[in-house]
Amino acid sequence: MLLDLRTIYFIVAVSCFVLGILQLAAYATGRFERWPLWWGLSNLFVGVGSFLVALRNLVPYAVSVDGGNIVTIIGYMLMFFAVRTFSGRVFDQRIFWLAIVLVSVPVVLIVSDPAAVSARLLYVSVICCLCDLAVAREAISIVRREKLYSAGLLVGLYVCTAMIFAVRSMLAATGEIGGPDPFGGSVVHSWMAVSAVAFIMLRSMAMVLMAAERSRNQLTELAHHDPLTGALNRGGLAQHLPALASQPISLLIIDIDHFKQLNDRHGHAAGDDILRLFASISKGVMRSSDLLARQGGDEFLAVLKNISQEDAMAIAERIRLDFAAAAMQRPDLAVFPTLSIGVATRRGGGDFERLLHKADEALYRSKREGRNRVEAFWENQQAA
Ligand code: GH3
Ligand code: MG
Repeated sequence: MLLDLRTIYFIVAVSCFVLGILQLAAYATGRFERWPLWWGLSNLFVGVGSFLVALRNLVPYAVSVDGGNIVTIIGYMLMFFAVRTFSGRVFDQRIFWLAIVLVSVPVVLIVSDPAAVSARLLYVSVICCLCDLAVAREAISIVRREKLYSAGLLVGLYVCTAMIFAVRSMLAATGEIGGPDPFGGSVVHSWMAVSAVAFIMLRSMAMVLMAAERSRNQLTELAHHDPLTGALNRGGLAQHLPALASQPISLLIIDIDHFKQLNDRHGHAAGDDILRLFASISKGVMRSSDLLARQGGDEFLAVLKNISQEDAMAIAERIRLDFAAAAMQRPDLAVFPTLSIGVATRRGGGDFERLLHKADEALYRSKREGRNRVEAFWENQQAA
């Protein structure tokens, strides 16, 4: 079925205007980051570009075709800019505007001949295809870095449109579309333009989904972590307990010695520094799959997976020594903090609370026997 291409271009223009205005209005509320500004502008540019192209033969050629194509290209490049801004990557705006000028020049110089419709379609399609591939690549990096699954949707959408532009380039190169009157009637060309409306809507929805998923992840991250040290809080650790129930683990309970004295002598801010120092040293010693959680105050739990009691004690000893060495590097401290650590291990799955109880017993022994030491709970010691 042949559809009227001019009408479709007007529909694309109106859809883009509505979306662009909505996105700019959202940005104007000040509740969003900067990406809706670029995304909204991108839609407005693509909308103006489609509107001008739809005016072909009604207004001067230089305005409708040259102008329309350049504005559309700027819109596509702004889309890439928006996704890059979303992903938080620094981007030199001068390079961006220079790229726009460089990409626009051939539209005017090389393909502005009214007879060269296929050449211009080919050029614009190749540029739009490359922009879409660049956006897809950026979205892949967002999926990998932030584990944003909705960014996978954006990748899929942009790969689809890149493929549509690739097909359009091939058809233009072979002269299948873009004859002397491009509005004259190519079924493929008109259906490609119709699909653009659907993709424009879906892309904007995918961006909104990405923003929502990112906010949710950030809130979960905040709810499960201690803001001072970055370690898990109790709620955060509780999330991991079901998965830990069937695993052999070692548990370290770590308490900073005489921490109250340090606070009293040097102030709360110095105490906070020491808590942060402890967390960063522990994370440096532990494997990335292990867990560090703040129980409260100056007491932490370290969950070491699939490890023997001896190896767990060796790791505890390293944390103790590294922390003591780092604290000694602070000449401003009159009270040097040290660590007391209790260790308990279970070889298979089991109750976390029981293991916690055993590690706690070992910690008390460590405190009783003079602090600044690692003590372990051995199964046969209970009977002794
Ligand atoms: P011990 O050697 O027996 O462990 O004694 P301690 O002084 O380390 O232990 P205690 O439990 O008496 O003191 C812990 C102190 O930790 C008390 C509290 O003021 C301080 N504290 C708790 N949370 C924070 C915090 O977020 N920042 C700072 N700077 N201090 C904290
Ligand atoms: Mg303490």
